[in-house]
Order: sequence, then structure tokens, then C-alpha cells
Amino acid sequence: MRLSRYFLPVLKESPRDAQIVSHRYMLQAGMIKQSSAGIYSWLPLGFKALKRIEQIVHEEQERAGHIPLLMPTLQSADLWRESGRYDDYGEEMLRISDRHGHDMLYGPTNEELITDIFRSHVSSYKSLPLTLYHIQWKFRDERRPRFGVMRGREFYMKDGYNFDLTKEDALHAYNRHLVSYLRTYERMGLQAIPMRADSGPIGGDDTHEFLVLADTGESEVFYDSAVTDLTFGDREIDYDDVEQCAGVMEEFTSKYARTDETHDEALFAEVPEERRKTARGIEVGQIFYFGTKYSEAMGATVQGPDGKPTPVHMGSHGIGVSRLLGAIIEASHDDKGIIWPEGVTPYHAGIVNLKQGDAEADAACEVLYEQLTNAGLEPLYDDRDERAGGKFATMDMIGLPWRITVGPRGLKNGVVELTSRKTGESEEMAPEAAVAKIVEIYAAHGIGRG
Ligand code: ATP
Ligand code: MG
Repeated sequence: MRLSRYFLPVLKESPRDAQIVSHRYMLQAGMIKQSSAGIYSWLPLGFKALKRIEQIVHEEQERAGHIPLLMPTLQSADLWRESGRYDDYGEEMLRISDRHGHDMLYGPTNEELITDIFRSHVSSYKSLPLTLYHIQWKFRDERRPRFGVMRGREFYMKDGYNFDLTKEDALHAYNRHLVSYLRTYERMGLQAIPMRADSGPIGGDDTHEFLVLADTGESEVFYDSAVTDLTFGDREIDYDDVEQCAGVMEEFTSKYARTDETHDEALFAEVPEERRKTARGIEVGQIFYFGTKYSEAMGATVQGPDGKPTPVHMGSHGIGVSRLLGAIIEASHDDKGIIWPEGVTPYHAGIVNLKQGDAEADAACEVLYEQLTNAGLEPLYDDRDERAGGKFATMDMIGLPWRITVGPRGLKNGVVELTSRKTGESEEMAPEAAVAKIVEIYAAHGIGRG
């Protein structure tokens, strides 16, 4: 993309109404624009980053064997009356009536809709196990929408639902989700720690939230610092292997890590004192096993191996796709702007032309642009007739991990400058060497054709 043809409304002034850095930078970098409280337009750069995150979520869900579909945002109230949640859900649910006076709602979640799809089409245990998911907009009329996309009213969520014959199978689905979520967050450059959370009125231990540690997080968390040493990395995993998934579950959840809802002082005291940590965290996902709650209420049964109708065991599993942008920026920024991790950056490298209109500099930039593009990467070329200082400030604010700076002086010596947004370090090298290095770095993340 050439900046002269793009739509990147970077703000000169830091917006004063934004309380936390991710919100401020998303506004300032021209990624989002508020349209009403907790509802945003996604401007091109924000939309691009959102799509990158969505893509990773899709890839990891499909890798785990989960099947994508798409359910609507508007739902009929009748299904929610069947489950009993229409009245229970309260003021967070946006209720609408259509021209015929039918009660509708803007979905805050999709247990009812998916259970209805399941019961309409699946009748035998032979179709199980089955996990269906979608990534769709949700609406929750939050009491206090705030912090930009972090706590919106309209937000983008991946929600998946597993259907299994037995509790044992459903717990394998639970573990499978835990593994796939670990991979998902790590690909985004995030450490999200699974923490035992509150299962509410359903009971049991089977819910974990994934928390990114950040001072601006809304949740208070208590953990053994040893959990921060755990990484999933690039180990091979067979998602059908029950033992293997259970092993990862055990590894990542056996140390103390809880949100304030389930915090237990006595248990916490057993953690060696120097490892006992209290901090704040951002909830970026949650997994849940809830048994036959919806299948019994809504008649989602299958014919079991014994020929008898059996209500299926279910769980639901959510990732806050739009909230993740805020969480990533909270975890990765400096005083000049965003610092995108390679896995999710909207554009892979910036090209800054120090002297637009200089035949040699222009030509060198074109070559860089073409080579990066041919390598399957997306460069953002600042080809505007602007001063260098302004171009650098824009690049720093929007946070692309790598910047190539091209100027007539360097070109005389056959070099351009390659700068890391993260470390601020610059290196002079031949243009082809800069391209080769960027291509190699992204190849290590499985990005591009390098
Ligand atoms: P919270 O406790 O933050 O209100 P929740 O537990 O009600 O969230 P879930 O139903 O578990 O949310 O939804 C799955 C994921 O969707 C959450 O882990 C979170 O990342 C995201 N999410 C929930 N509410 C919002 C919101 N208002 N704005 C943005 N993302 C949200
Ligand atoms: Mg939750």
C-alpha cells in the first residue's frame, strides 16, 4: 500500500478522553472512530489488524478440527425463552421488536442458536464429536463501556461450541480448546495465562479464563510466578490424542493462577512467598464445560450406542477478537506509539522515502516495494511529499515492526537503513540485504513466501 493513496487519518493531538494507552493509540493511529458509546467504526488500519487477528483465530481453530460456520447477529427471543435465559440475561441484552411485533434480540452469545442448529440436524451419536464455531459481532449493553475496544458494547468474538456424547469426551474438547488457545495467543506475541475462574451457578471446576497481565486490566489476578515461565512454543500436538491434550492442560493449570472470583488465600499461601504475585489482567478468552444444561432444556439429544435418547454434553469457548487489539497494544507499545508483534502487524514493513521526487530514491523505494510484495509481504510505502520527521512519527505511531529508510545520501554508498521498531536499532545495509532480512524474519513466523 502506498500511503499517498491510503486512508490513514493519524491524529496530530493525543485524544484527551482516552484513559488507557491502547485506546489512545488506536484513535491516534487512525484505526478506529467511535460512533456511539462502546460502538466503533474500524478504519482501514484497524480493520486490517482485526482481520490479521481473526485469521490466526480461524487457522488455529481449524487446526484443532473445529468447524467454522456463521450465525446471524439478530436472533429470535423464542429460542431464549426455551433455555430460560430471555428473562435471566437482564439489561445487557439489546431487545428489539420487528415490524410484526416479534421479539428479537442482538445476540450477546450463541448457545441457544447453535443448540437449535444441532438438534435440527444431528440425531445419532455417530455424528459426534462435533465442534462448531463462528466469529461474529456481539452486542452487550454494558453498564460502563470504556477503554475503547477493550470493553465495547458491540464487539467481535469467536465463540465455539462442542457437542459430545459423554462428559469425558466433552472434557477432551475442553482441553483441546485450551491447547488451541495457547497456540493462538502465542502467535499474536501474547502471553495469556489460563486461570481458574468462576463457573457461576453451573458449578464444577471447569472454566478457565485467559488473562494477559497488564496494569490497565480490569481483573485482579493471583498467581504463582512460575506460570509465566511456561510457553507452548512450536511443539507438535495431535489434537485427537486425549492424553497429550490432558498433559498440556495439566502443565498449564496445575500451578496456582486464579482471578479474584475464585481466589483462595489458604491455597495461595502454599506458593513459596517469592513466587506469590498479585497483578491485574485483561481477559482475552474463556473456556467452559457446562454439561447438559442447554441440551436438556432445548431437547438436543442423540440416539446413544444403546439406542436410547441421550442429551449431549456441551461446552462453549470464547475469544475476544476485537478486545485482543487493545490487549496486544497494552502489552506492546512505547511512548512513541504501538509496537506490533510480527504475527499480527497490519503491514509487515514500512518504507520511508526521505526525498520524495528524487529519481534515485524513488526508484530504490519502488524496487523494495516490489521485492517485499513478491515475497508475499505487505509493505506500507510512505511516498508522501512530507518531511522526514513527520514520516518517522507516523511510522512510530502505527508501529510496524520494521522500517526501511531510503535517502539519496545512503544510496550513494549503496545502502538503506533497516530499523527495528522494538529496539530502535538501525543498521545500514544494501537494499537487497534489508529485504532478505525482513523476509527471513517473517518466514520464521510462517508469514510470506520466504
Ligand atoms: P467480561 O468479564 O470481561 O465482561 P465475559 O466473561 O462476560 O467478559 P465471555 O462471555 O467469556 O465474556 O466472552 C468471551 C470473550 O469476549 C471474553 O473473554 C472477552 O475477551 C470478550 N468480551 C466480553 N465482553 C466484551 C466486551 N464488552 N467488549 C469486548 N470484548 C468482550
Ligand atoms: Mg468470560
